[in-house]
Parts: sequence; C-alpha cells; structure tokens
Amino acid sequence: MIRVFTLATILVLLPLAQPAAVTSITPDLLLINAHIVTMNERRPEAEAVAISGGRILWIGANTEARRLYGNSRETLDLNGATVLPGFIDAHTHLMTLGESYLKLNIKDIPTEQAVAALVKHRSSETPRGEWIFGWGWDEGAWAANYPTYRSLTEAAPDNPVFLTGLHGFAGWANKRALDLAGINRGTPDPDNGKIIRDPKTGEATGILTNRAQELIQKHIPALNISQVKRAIELASDECIRNGLTSVHEARVTRVMIQAFRELVKEHRLKLRVYGMLDFADKALVDEWLARGPEIDSANHLFTIRSVKVFADGALGSRGAAMLEPYSDEPRTRGVVTTSQSEIFELTRRCLQHGFQVAAHAIGDGANHMALDAYEQAMKAEPKAGDTRLRIEHAQVLAPMDIPRFARLNVIASMQPTHCTSDMAWAEKRVGPKRIQGAYAWRSVLATGAHLPLSSDFPGETLNPFYGIYAAITRQSPDGRPEGGWYPDQRLSVAEALKGYTTEAAYAEFEERNKGSIEPGKLADLIVISGNEKLSSPAEWLNVRVLKTFINGRLVYNADVKK
Ligand SMILES: [Zn+2]
Repeated sequence: MIRVFTLATILVLLPLAQPAAVTSITPDLLLINAHIVTMNERRPEAEAVAISGGRILWIGANTEARRLYGNSRETLDLNGATVLPGFIDAHTHLMTLGESYLKLNIKDIPTEQAVAALVKHRSSETPRGEWIFGWGWDEGAWAANYPTYRSLTEAAPDNPVFLTGLHGFAGWANKRALDLAGINRGTPDPDNGKIIRDPKTGEATGILTNRAQELIQKHIPALNISQVKRAIELASDECIRNGLTSVHEARVTRVMIQAFRELVKEHRLKLRVYGMLDFADKALVDEWLARGPEIDSANHLFTIRSVKVFADGALGSRGAAMLEPYSDEPRTRGVVTTSQSEIFELTRRCLQHGFQVAAHAIGDGANHMALDAYEQAMKAEPKAGDTRLRIEHAQVLAPMDIPRFARLNVIASMQPTHCTSDMAWAEKRVGPKRIQGAYAWRSVLATGAHLPLSSDFPGETLNPFYGIYAAITRQSPDGRPEGGWYPDQRLSVAEALKGYTTEAAYAEFEERNKGSIEPGKLADLIVISGNEKLSSPAEWLNVRVLKTFINGRLVYNADVKK
C-alpha cells in the first residue's frame, strides 16, 4: 500500500523519468531509528525517512528502510530521537531581529566605563565616520546619575555614537553625534522631550529623553543593502537554531526585497521566507499589484503574494479599535488606522491580482471591520477563487464574529505568547465579558477555521516551544496562573503543532509542499530532544533543537560548536 503511494508520488515528481522501481533511486540521505511525527493524519508516525533531491522520497519502518535504501549516500542513525516537520512561524519580523544584532548589545553592562570600553572596541573595527549604534543601558536605573557624551567621545572620537536605552525612553550620544545633529547650548527642547544639560554650563550632556532622541535619529542613515543582508543572515541563523525552517515576514520593504532576492541568488538565504508587502508604502503596493505576485515555485525560498494592512493599534496602549469604550478608559474606543472602505478597496484589488491580504486587527472593532471589508470584497470579486484572506492577531473578538472566520475562510493568524504576555492586564482593558473572546483560540478552532500560530518575534521569543507551551497551558513560563488563564481556551499538543506546521503552510498556500513529513514534500525537518508526548507541559520549555534540515540539507547541528 505504501509502496504504491510512494511510486505514484515519484511519478508525479519526475514526470519525464522512466517509471522507476522505488529501489532504483539512491537517496541523498536516510534517517533511521527515529520517532517521526509526520503531522500527516493518514500516517501519523514512522521510523525512517529517505530524502532525495531536497524532497521526501519515502517514509516507513526501519527494516524496510534498510532493505530498500541501504544504498543511500548517507545514513544517519538518530537513536530514537523525535523528528518533526520544520516549524513555520506565521508572523515574524526577521529584519527587526537582525537589526538588533547589528547594534552593540549593552544590556546588563554595569557601568559607564564598561560601556565605553565596548564602544571603543567596536570603533576599532568600524570605518571612520560610520555610525555606531547600541541598545540596552538602563535609563531608569541610571537616571539618578546619567552618563555623558565625554566617555563615548573618548572611546570613539571619529564615529558618531548613539546608544538607546533599554525601554527606548532615552538615548545617549557622543560629541560627534551631537555635532552632526546640530545640538548645542542654544538648541531648544522639543515637545515631549528633553535635552539634558549640565546645570552649570548649560551644555548638552549627550542624554536625550523621549522625543528629543529624534533630533539625532533623523540624521541616522538607513541601513545599506549589505547591512540589510547581514541582518537577515544573523536573524536566520537564530531561526534555524530554534527549529524554524520558514517564516512569514509581516513587513517587507523595497530594500528587504532586494536583499532577499540577492541572498537567494548567492545561495545565502538559509530559510524560506513568505513576505508581506506593507500597505503603508502605497507606491510599492501599486507596483506589485500591477506586476502580480512572485511565487517561488522552483526553490520555495522567497515568495511575495501578500499585503499587510494595519486596521488598528495595540491593546496595551489602548490603540486597539473596540466596538465599545475601553473598560478602564471609558472616553476612548481606540483608533482605526485604516478605514473599512480602504481595506475593502485594497482587498478587492488584491483579489483581482492574485494577492492575499493580511490585516493586523487587535480590537473587536477592528476585527469586525476587517471581516466586513473582506466579506464585501469577496462578494465584489466572486471569481477570485482560493482567497485565504488573513487576520493577524485576531486578538479580541466579538461573539458574533467568531464563526465568521470559518464561514468566510478567513485565516485567524494568532500568537500564543501574546496571550501569556498580556494576561496580567488585558482584562482591565476590556472587562470580564469581552475577555471571553480574547486570545480565544479554542473558540475560533471549534468553528472550523484555520489557525496558524506564530511568535511575532522579536517582540516575543522566537522559540516555538515557548509558543506551544503557552498554547497548551495559557500560563507564563513560571507556571502562573495555576490551572491556566481562561483554561477552556487551551489547545491540545496536536493542535498547537498543527498551528506551527500544516496550518502555517496553508496560510501561505504551501500545504502541498510544506508542513508535514510525507513523500513528495520538501525535506524540511527538525530533530528535537524529548518527544511530543511529554509528561508535563512545562517540559516543552526545555525542548531543544538538535538538528535542522532544510531541503534535505543539515543547516544546524547542535553537536557542532561554531
Ligand atoms: Zn507583527
């Protein structure tokens, strides 16, 4: 039965080849002695997998594997370790993560002198005149005795230096940066910001608080293409160390598109990227709608067929658009950032030109509005076919809107760790009634909707096992609250795993190529410590990725220290 299925798959894969017996193919790689969780319901488990040409050729039992594929070019005995499909994070900010790696990390560096020493070292490897950025000094703890530009000027006299505080409320510049920004004794404080001055001389000390930082920031040049590529590479390395083999990048800019394309051409893009254009750049979106999507059906490395649009802001800052006023601030219902008619118009155009729309919607008002706009657009474009419109976050839903996701086949793209990060204060914002529809994965799934899961890193950790833990427990990593926060909304392990594999693949139209371990699919696999039947949910927090394979190639191996 299995052999018939396999043969059929090979015939599909190699339409020009002579019909070949399974055994006549020499796999590039054979993994044996594994506990393979395939995420394919027809055949949920296997012991061995054969890989050829970057695709899965065959899965089955150890004995069969040795008999059929003893000729494999390479055989790896996994000693019973668990293998899962590579994880797909359906909402990420790879570039933001990468940019943070380009910056000097000064978090937890205890003194001004120690920070200056790091800046001095960075300066020694930075061309004269080029900016040095850093992040992480504690503007709260250091406020009693702020550092000054002098230490940084001494450390890097020939480079402008700007170090952002841990929480972004203050920046610390050297003299070169102050001069470039034209900040001197006479510069007035801007609105909502302060230039900290020496009480005796009135001279700027180099510390700028709140919006005064913009005086410097507006002189900072955008990253050049090689810096963007470097940032993407650094972030990609972190992804594959954590078992991510594909990401849905929730905002790609013009320079990022160029960077991704060049990385693909240079064989340097390590993981698969599904990019969303940003509706805020209307010219870019217009250009793409005119030329049509770019679907990488050859390598499955970089695809653009989605447009992200912001319907509202965030719940914490009360920027999320609610149907009724906030429970803890009755004067506001939040902010709609793109109107229903604009979302409708964008969606209609996207459907005409073969693009998906992914609307960021947090509040129940924004979700209601986006669903209305989607419904109208699908009515206006009845021939659009397989639409798969998405709502990113779907964080607070009115009861009437929960069944609409399944009915309209709108994908609910949700983030388990947002729930556990927000649960301490979310109910204050929306009150005891509306909270029933907040982070309500179980309710959404129960209606039959698609539920891809994601991290939204770097705002949250990119470690998908933390996401699984949050989804199945609704607890913080320290186990609170006991029993879980609104535990009726917990997912099962299988449902959470689907969210990071098959459902995320569906959300990018790639379910035929990704998301499960079955013959014909791309050979994206991870080997993990532990297995999917861990005795306590907290053990998910300790699961580690041992190996990551993309396209059948070992791209990360925990045993090899870099
Ligand atoms: Zn995001």
